[in-house]
Amino acid sequence: MQLPQQLLDSLTGIPGFDKEAFIQVHESGGQVTSVRVNAAKAAIDNRQAAIDQFLSAGSSKIPWSSNGYYLPERPVFIFDPLIHAGAYYVQEASSMFVEQALTQTTDVTQPLRVLDLCAAPGGKSTLLQSLISVDSLLVSNEVIKSRAAILEENCIKWGGANVIVTNADPTTFERLQNFFDVIVIDAPCSGSGLFRRERDAIGEWSEQNVDLCYQRQQRILAAALPALKEGGVLIYSTCSYSKEEDEHIADWLMDTFSVDSLPLTIDAAWGIVETQSDKHRAYGYRFFPYKIKGEGFFISCFRKQDGGSSVIKPPKKSLLQKASKNETGIIQPWLKQGSPVQLWKQQEEILAFPQQLEKELLTIVDNVYVRRAGIAIGKIAGNDLVPDHALALSTLINPAIVAVSLKKEEALQYLRREEVSLSLGHKGWTLVQYEQYNVGWIKVLPNRINNYYPQNWRILKRAVDSANENG
Ligand code: SAM
Repeated sequence: MQLPQQLLDSLTGIPGFDKEAFIQVHESGGQVTSVRVNAAKAAIDNRQAAIDQFLSAGSSKIPWSSNGYYLPERPVFIFDPLIHAGAYYVQEASSMFVEQALTQTTDVTQPLRVLDLCAAPGGKSTLLQSLISVDSLLVSNEVIKSRAAILEENCIKWGGANVIVTNADPTTFERLQNFFDVIVIDAPCSGSGLFRRERDAIGEWSEQNVDLCYQRQQRILAAALPALKEGGVLIYSTCSYSKEEDEHIADWLMDTFSVDSLPLTIDAAWGIVETQSDKHRAYGYRFFPYKIKGEGFFISCFRKQDGGSSVIKPPKKSLLQKASKNETGIIQPWLKQGSPVQLWKQQEEILAFPQQLEKELLTIVDNVYVRRAGIAIGKIAGNDLVPDHALALSTLINPAIVAVSLKKEEALQYLRREEVSLSLGHKGWTLVQYEQYNVGWIKVLPNRINNYYPQNWRILKRAVDSANENG
């Protein structure tokens, strides 16, 4: 598939654009594979060894990322139990630059309220989760329902308790005036930055679509800006090279809202191109695949200059109630000692959320459709807990809970939700582990073992199909 001539023409004159190199890199068929390690999980017990092993053969650090690595080739990720355990996330390297955008503009040691507005499948959200402190809040939102389900799955795997996954149109957030310290908008775009990886998308590119995306980006930004507090930071990114969706959006923002553009410091060796918009000289950073090891990307940061801070009071009545003393007593042994979480109940479900974020939780639940808040702990049946899968994958779980360690083939059987035959000397709920990472639950009964891996997450592929995936 040939690159659209209109795209090439429209990029001519953009700083760093080199038509020959651009065509060549798209024709070369080169692929870059990169992952980001979940440092919060790797820090538990002796798990670092499994990560070291995973990264051992020829991986190298991504220079702008603390936990990002290039891999020498693309493994069949679906057959690595570690990915299902949330040990790492497969993320495009350029996108990991969001780390620089956040840490250079915002003091991440402070408690923050962060909104990731266009979040599915969760690359930026899992990154943000790793960067903010445990007493900060991340609201991870996706408007499309089916994509919100994938976002939820990836957030559960990442395991942090301070995340709320919502499924709402951006206009919903207008209710939360001046609420957030940081809003990340990784906007839906015309996608030219991903042409090398998704060749079929080339045929769908058109100038008309760039224009439609530009208009949609304006609508999303206009809905989000009221929810950013004065002094708060907006991080805007696209995977489009087009000036309309990048610099022109920056100029439109500065025309429409009271925001300042924020420059970032970049190491010249990284190969990232700094640009400035025509009218307001807003700073932007563009990633070309012939200059950096990664795909096309654009990012720009702004600080809001007006609005004050939030005066929203949490509601008196909520869908959530605090768990009773008895329920808390049943759940306590399942949690790591000293976890500063409050247990909440919604109908039969118990969830854990950081104690100090109570006001934030109640406010979000009152205003936005929440798919999942914090860590789902499970349901109480009689005097026992029926544990949720999310508890197994969370960083809150008590490390003393009885666990069984599986070899790779057994772990894959478990992840396919097949029967696992193990001879265990105990009964009841048992964690399944692979290389010390929790993968899920089984329940050991007198005459069989029940596999509690979530039905809709199970691996459906067989090894034989995987040849096609990489081919
Ligand atoms: N941030 C994600 C990540 O790092 O994994 C990728 C986000 S993707 C570039 C843009 C997202 O915006 C998609 O999930 C898409 O469903 C969502 N989206 C599409 N139309 C939208 C709209 N009108 N308002 C808000 N989000 C929209």
